[in-house]
Amino acid sequence: MNLNFPKSVPLAHLPTPIEKLDRLTKFLNGPDLYIKRDDLTGLATGGNKSRKLEYLVADALNHGCDHLVTVGSRQSNHCRQTAAAAAKYGLGCSVILSGNKPKQRLGNVLLDEILGAHIYWTNGRSRADVMGEVLHDLKAMGRLPYPIPVGGSNVIGSTSYVAAMDEFTQQLKSQHLNFDFIVLASSSGGTQAGIVLGSHIYGFSGEVLGISVDSSAEQLQTQVAALATATATHLGLDSTSVLEHVKVNDDYVGEGYAKVGEPEREAIQIMAQKEGILLDPVYTSKAVAGIIDLIRWGAFTRGQSILFWHTGGTASLSAFSHTLVL
Ligand SMILES: *Cc1c(COP(=O)(O)O)cnc(C)c1O
Repeated sequence: MNLNFPKSVPLAHLPTPIEKLDRLTKFLNGPDLYIKRDDLTGLATGGNKSRKLEYLVADALNHGCDHLVTVGSRQSNHCRQTAAAAAKYGLGCSVILSGNKPKQRLGNVLLDEILGAHIYWTNGRSRADVMGEVLHDLKAMGRLPYPIPVGGSNVIGSTSYVAAMDEFTQQLKSQHLNFDFIVLASSSGGTQAGIVLGSHIYGFSGEVLGISVDSSAEQLQTQVAALATATATHLGLDSTSVLEHVKVNDDYVGEGYAKVGEPEREAIQIMAQKEGILLDPVYTSKAVAGIIDLIRWGAFTRGQSILFWHTGGTASLSAFSHTLVL
């Protein structure tokens, strides 16, 4: 297929490995479970935003920009990886985080500071308003800021997960693997959009299931489909509607975004104690809680093969210590 792939800069350790989860498979007594280790992308503790930033930073440099500006929640993994990417390419970095300045710098907030990002707290204002001000002030100082949307989820960021599906389908071929499902945590939708579009382009035969960590299934499905379609156009493909291939389950939002309850706690402990792999409290713990539950009530069955695509986030674990170990 003739794809119009934009340039990228190196930031992530690729390809990330696919591993079999033998002890977890045995423990849950269901389908064969595997993991794609995008928690090991390597950029200041890694995660899915490292892939997106390879394309976003290339675009920023291409436009002559000298400062990255982005937004996120208090424990944003995206902001932390953006700060690291900016450092590596000698760019300034401003991150706008929701809420008030915490008394203690923990998890990603600590790393944002170590990585040299300027942190702005919204203090109850909208992130867009604060972003507008920060961009305005930087321009007034003669800088050329490059704004990145929440989660790095635009057509440029999503392109990286189309490329990731090229990597993934090559791994399947060389390792003689195939999967009935890819399951991942989905929030701003850029990762799922790229994976769904990449499945279509590179001929992955399984389904892609996004486990929502905050939005309703309907809302996230619409968002992912729109972004996948826009990314297809951006890559020079005939606009193909992928809506029917965008599957979202919102049964595992639990108590809400960044709220840890029993299912998230159980998922984190099981993955740690059966496989020695850390999950994060905000995203991947909800996705794995979903996989565990879907196995328990028989939606995923023995004989199937399920891949959990780990998207990282473990840098925030220490900031949630009070909810993780009771
Ligand atoms: C951002 C993030 C996600 C969600 O990815 P989107 O592309 O925003 O849907 C999942 N897991 C982790 C750890 C993240 O930081």
